[in-house]
Amino acid sequence: METDGLVEIRNLNVDFGTDNGTVHALRDVNLTIGRRSTIGLVGESGSGKSTLALALLGLLPENAESVSGQITFGGEDLLALKPKELQRLRGTRIAMIFQDPMTALNPVFTLGTQLVDAQRSRHPRLGRRELLARAARMLARVGISDPEARLSAYPHQFSGGMRQRVMIAMALLCEPDILIADEPTTALDVTIEAQIVRLLKDLHAEFHGSIVFVSHSLGLISEICDEVAVMYAGKIVESGPVKSLFSNPSHPYTLALLACEIDPADEPGERLVTIPGGLPDLVNVPAGCIFADRCPSRFAKCAEEPPPRTVASGHSAACWLVP
Ligand code: ATP
Ligand code: MG
Repeated sequence: METDGLVEIRNLNVDFGTDNGTVHALRDVNLTIGRRSTIGLVGESGSGKSTLALALLGLLPENAESVSGQITFGGEDLLALKPKELQRLRGTRIAMIFQDPMTALNPVFTLGTQLVDAQRSRHPRLGRRELLARAARMLARVGISDPEARLSAYPHQFSGGMRQRVMIAMALLCEPDILIADEPTTALDVTIEAQIVRLLKDLHAEFHGSIVFVSHSLGLISEICDEVAVMYAGKIVESGPVKSLFSNPSHPYTLALLACEIDPADEPGERLVTIPGGLPDLVNVPAGCIFADRCPSRFAKCAEEPPPRTVASGHSAACWLVP
């Protein structure tokens, strides 16, 4: 199969040093992110989604004591780049939107100043006036009214949903090849969440980059993404085109996640289904299939670790039940 990979992640392993031992947060992760693709990363809390996103940005925390494998980005080996080179990449080719926009917005500067700074490495020749004009146009595009006046406002003068729109504008002003959105709507109520998801989807049709969308919800991912990777305890257990994965979910963990989705038609207050049991210990990672402990379909063979097995074209699941 021909892959037009913008990002190729091969056998990525990330270990964190902690007082309780080494946390094996990512183990043998393989993923291709195509040009202009939209890919969702889904999994329970602690499955490694943010670690993977941060590795892509070259922003792993300092206690990431061992990082091995390969991440190539447009042919460049990300893991071999110097901090300065990574910083250049982040200002021009990779951008990120976080769950809490206040972590990325500086409370003491106006939006105008921050939106101008965000574009400097991308457009070093443009003057402040031109950069402000670009910023205002982008604010209008993400649905902020009266954008020129808003440029002199401070982050705290915006609601949570508006701040997330500002973050999206800031990210897109760099015209990135890849936009990583790590649970950008978790802090918002469902109506605003739906609006932001809609906005990201519309913007993707206009901008030339790829989107990596991190979420707990397969439902949200299916709204924006063409591809999905299901993560469990530091591994990708199933991945493929959204359509194929929804029509033929093949890993018991994916099935369990699907069962947890709340149907919008459900009564408000209906209890969210959860998967019995918890994530395995990532310090002493158990042998065999990582999901075996919680898996309703486990059998003797699961004592061995299953390799990814092909379900359909581009769709694989690491489960012995896949024929
Ligand atoms: P969430 O949905 O809660 O954001 P996640 O899927 O993003 O979860 P990560 O934050 O990537 O999960 O964490 C993966 C694992 O690595 C977890 O066990 C977490 O406790 C551990 N971990 C993450 N960062 C560190 C760190 N700096 N030091 C030690 N362990 C860490
Ligand atoms: Mg996370």
